[in-house]
Amino acid sequence: MSPRLLFRHIEPVFCAGLLDDPLLLLHVKPLGRCCLFDCGQLHHLAKRVLKRVDALFITHAHMDHFMGIDTFIRHNHVSPRTAEIFGPPGIIRKMAGKFAGYDWNLTEPSWCTFRVHEVADDRITTARFSGPAGFPCRPEGEHHRADRVIYRNDCLQVEAELCDHRIPALIFRITERATFLVDEEKIARAGLVPGEWLRELQKRLHGRGNDGPLLVLCRRGEDVVAIPATDITALYESIRRDAPPASIGYIGDIGFTAENQLKVTTLLEGVTLLVSECSFLAWELEKARVSHHLATPDLSALAAKLRPRFVLPTHLSRTYRGRSNLLYGELAMPPGVSLLRLPEHLTPRPLLAGELPRLDRMMSER
Ligand SMILES: [Zn+2]
Repeated sequence: MSPRLLFRHIEPVFCAGLLDDPLLLLHVKPLGRCCLFDCGQLHHLAKRVLKRVDALFITHAHMDHFMGIDTFIRHNHVSPRTAEIFGPPGIIRKMAGKFAGYDWNLTEPSWCTFRVHEVADDRITTARFSGPAGFPCRPEGEHHRADRVIYRNDCLQVEAELCDHRIPALIFRITERATFLVDEEKIARAGLVPGEWLRELQKRLHGRGNDGPLLVLCRRGEDVVAIPATDITALYESIRRDAPPASIGYIGDIGFTAENQLKVTTLLEGVTLLVSECSFLAWELEKARVSHHLATPDLSALAAKLRPRFVLPTHLSRTYRGRSNLLYGELAMPPGVSLLRLPEHLTPRPLLAGELPRLDRMMSER
């Protein structure tokens, strides 16, 4: 029997090794679509994967988190769709620079539109790059941020906070939409009898279902009788299972400053899975401080504060090649928090020139 999964709607896939540029893909199963977090090295992902990405979230535009944007554009630009891209202040200008770096004289009316959203502390500014027009930058306006939520679909929401990485860098919390779950014990204690009415209750809570009163089965002595429910929201609250929706915290690169720690704790407390960079081992703490990255004692401290169920350390400096296991020895997880491990690399190494067909040999005179 397969284990019960903690996520109901989303299937998180980490598409990089421990030493590779980080890349988190979320497959949103009911929609058959994806969200992608960071956009470094992604040429190993198939076009059919990248074409399913509805929303791309970029923590910051350092090359190891952003250079895959060309591949993302390449695999999507002729598709008849709109792709949403979220990033820190400056991302619109950087995307404009990307599009301006190519010639677009052969566009078609069906080409893709990229909507780019620049997330600041207090507002989100949006610009549209329309394929049929050759991807010029057209401002679409800005709106005030009433809360931390920057994106929603039928299955999840994404919240964002700006942290300090010597440049502004976003961190994200992805939370699944609460699903209809009932507690059989609560149903029995309320004197109710499970039946088709539960399915009808779920439909009505989602704005579907039949008209007329919802008939709920209740026990009356030896008998079961159908009684109309007066308040379906109160009925559901009385029998729902207390299970907070599963969530993921994603940290690209941040410094271990007091202000960042407060932001991380506020946004990511109690996430199911924390995916976080951990660039340096403890003996190079000073390097982490100078470059505004995390080191192993920092990630241990964050895990102690946030108490996620699982922690996936990512983005370890490549200087530790062959000794990456030291990372797992240094990270101290509090009780109830499990550490997940990645291989150093996921993809085959690039080919050397000597491993490729030699044209001069192919051309030799016979
Ligand atoms: Zn960085």
